[in-house]
Amino acid sequence: MMDIKIELVKTRKEKPDMNNLGFGKYYTDHMFEMDYTEGIGWHDPRIVPYHSLEMDPASMVLHYGQSTFEGLKAYRGKDGEIRLFRPEKNMERLNTSNKRLVIPEIDVEFGVEAIKKLVEVEKDWVPTGEGTSLYIRPFIIATDVHVGVHPSRTYKFMVILTPVGMYYKEGINPVRIYVEDEYCRAVRGGMGFTKTAGNYAASLIAQETAENRGFTQVLWLDGVEKKYIEEVGTMNIMFVIDGEVITPELNGSILPGITRRSAIELLRSKGYKVTERRISIDEVYEAASSGKLNEAFGTGTAAVISPVGELLWEGKTIIINDGKIGPVSHLVYDTITGIQSGKLEDEYGWITKVEAK
Ligand code: PMP
Repeated sequence: MMDIKIELVKTRKEKPDMNNLGFGKYYTDHMFEMDYTEGIGWHDPRIVPYHSLEMDPASMVLHYGQSTFEGLKAYRGKDGEIRLFRPEKNMERLNTSNKRLVIPEIDVEFGVEAIKKLVEVEKDWVPTGEGTSLYIRPFIIATDVHVGVHPSRTYKFMVILTPVGMYYKEGINPVRIYVEDEYCRAVRGGMGFTKTAGNYAASLIAQETAENRGFTQVLWLDGVEKKYIEEVGTMNIMFVIDGEVITPELNGSILPGITRRSAIELLRSKGYKVTERRISIDEVYEAASSGKLNEAFGTGTAAVISPVGELLWEGKTIIINDGKIGPVSHLVYDTITGIQSGKLEDEYGWITKVEAK
């Protein structure tokens, strides 16, 4: 494995108020960087002081969006240990995104090692408060200086860290979600299954409209028929209908969430019937009107579980579980956060510990 060089800052930044972090407002003292050059491969991995980038205005990422990223968190337990949740899954997904965007892959084990090392250097930035964590953002950009559409031959991989509080002001309380019926986020054959900047750029207009109307997020329908449920802005979605957990199948246009996968695995291990299949918005509304829609919840790294208390689709509102969190949402939330914080035993082997002395 390549050796990671470490250059430490002379003076560390003053830490923000760790009880009032918000999301993505503060960045730590160091970052990880390495470069890719055609014919050489990935090289020069290093942890260096956090710094601005100097880029040529013709850098390809700025024009054609050839970029990929990931999002995961480091959690500090009551026992003082720092834990990562399935970081290898994030590195695997980064490579899935890389393949689609014609970006060279990164060795999964090395990527996890780089993240562990960086978090170790920044261990004092991992907050301790309930619901707080150190958010980890690995990302890759195309750096060739060239105007013209084709894949770059040079790239930069970076990891930055930001201590965060809760993503949604609602916390674990149910959110209101707007079912988007005009725009779509992605279609099959496109890039929906990847974490690439363009997918999020495509979502902004709907997200802004939803927020202006007092909703937390958008629920996307499929781009062709505007009929089948895809996912929420930054979460996958699950419905509990008549006791069965149903979630849209991975069809190429939604992100394969690591929280989604973990929720499926843990619910199945606890005896729940979980089905991954196509599910239409009509079916959800019908289940609601016949009293069979028990719960709906989003799954994602940011909030782990976000219960959906209300949906608005084509002017029709449904209230789910009286706008309260239900038992399945609670079980998934308590189990995953319990494992992340070390309160519960890591029975599924999901944790990678950071060796922070
Ligand atoms: N869908 C989208 C579009 C997302 O951005 C995210 C957050 N990464 C998710 C789903 C949830 O994925 P995960 O559980 O891996 O955070």
